[in-house]
Amino acid sequence: MKCAVCGADLRTTTTDLPFKVSDTTIVILKGLPVVQCAKCPEYLIEDEVLRRVDEILAGVEGRTELEIIRYAA
Ligand SMILES: [Zn+2]
Repeated sequence: MKCAVCGADLRTTTTDLPFKVSDTTIVILKGLPVVQCAKCPEYLIEDEVLRRVDEILAGVEGRTELEIIRYAA
């Protein structure tokens, strides 16, 4: 797969990403598998991973302003 922005090769890696789940709550998912461009900051998240992210975020109760969750498939 090639980067849509610069055309460089994409590679699978893991990273930590913040997701805003409500006006007051941000969840940081750690160890999230993403497809990252080798040359620029562009990345994408595969559909399968995104579905799992949705499930994880749906389970967040939002009682704290910041939650840190380790991604597990
Ligand atoms: Zn790129």
